[in-house]
Amino acid sequence: MTSLADLPIRDDLRGQTPYGAPQQQVRYALNVNENTHPIPEDVARHIVEAIARAVLTVNRYPDREFTVLREHLAAYLGHGLQPASVWAANGSNEIIQQLLQAFGGPGRRVLGFPPTYSMHSIIAAGTGTEWVAAERDADYRISPETAVAAIEREDPDLVFLCSPNNPTGTPLPLETIEAVYGASRGIVMVDEAYAEFAPAGQPSALTLLAGRERLVVSRTMSKAFAFAGARVGYLAADPAVVDALRLVRLPYHLSALTQAAAVAALEHAPTMLAMVDEIAAQRDRMVAELGARGYTVWPSHANFVLFGGLADAHAVFEALLAREVLIRDTGIPGHLRVTAGTAEETTAFLAALAEVDPR
Ligand SMILES: *Cc1c(COP(=O)(O)O)cnc(C)c1O
Repeated sequence: MTSLADLPIRDDLRGQTPYGAPQQQVRYALNVNENTHPIPEDVARHIVEAIARAVLTVNRYPDREFTVLREHLAAYLGHGLQPASVWAANGSNEIIQQLLQAFGGPGRRVLGFPPTYSMHSIIAAGTGTEWVAAERDADYRISPETAVAAIEREDPDLVFLCSPNNPTGTPLPLETIEAVYGASRGIVMVDEAYAEFAPAGQPSALTLLAGRERLVVSRTMSKAFAFAGARVGYLAADPAVVDALRLVRLPYHLSALTQAAAVAALEHAPTMLAMVDEIAAQRDRMVAELGARGYTVWPSHANFVLFGGLADAHAVFEALLAREVLIRDTGIPGHLRVTAGTAEETTAFLAALAEVDPR
């Protein structure tokens, strides 16, 4: 049998491991922060009709500039953004890949602040960009001073921030983003995959875009919009950044079917987002209950909760899995991360946890 090591693979990919969140059929899948609410029936029907219309012209290449989708995304984001400042791809993972293809690559470095979204470093590796890890402050926070010190020390070509941060749920103050931008010469990307789950009034990095041509805010339809399977991510940035991405994207990278589905979903944004408040309520319920049981619970602005104080996190993970509850071991010692879903899922998770880790 041929193994990967026998192949003439790039030297920098030898020994690396692929992204590997388990995909298992379990009753309660609370491990990858999906929106566990299905798409409402009437919205689903509208999306299917839009896809059906698009199928009639799939003999032609799709609109390479996905103009209608960008108009809808700009309107959804607000903040006075124009379609020229918006770009989309097959998930925000592809957005991040295009950014690294255009602004990173061999000989260039991207600075990040682990523990953070594991795909940031994996996509960096895939594009030949060196990943440089900087320290956070206590409680997973990043103060302006800490961030600026890391940038002055490392002089990175890109800085990746994540707000709220995955897997900790920690929000990032705008002052830190402003300080990072001021201290760096490169692209500053703020991954706001979970922005819709933040408490009302929490300002987005979108408010900082004007006059900052190296700042990029990445968003996704995977989480709040319950669209993970459709693969639609997007960014807002200066139109010149979008021009740069046109140099590296594959022509026609967003299929006509994806474009049609995303536009139809965005036409129902208020309905699609109606579950967000419910999910945030389940998150807060888990924070309260886990705290009452004596766990260390990290404040979360996202649709998941990181909790610690587990003597053997992996044993608890396995015991929950045996009870059809799949959550996530993100590698933080003594900690596990659980996605907030429906009330029934929260109840099932909390009951199973009480069985496997009585307190
Ligand atoms: C889930 C997640 C994404 C989403 O990636 P897609 O490719 O859009 O599905 C992006 N960033 C972070 C931090 C995430 O947790």
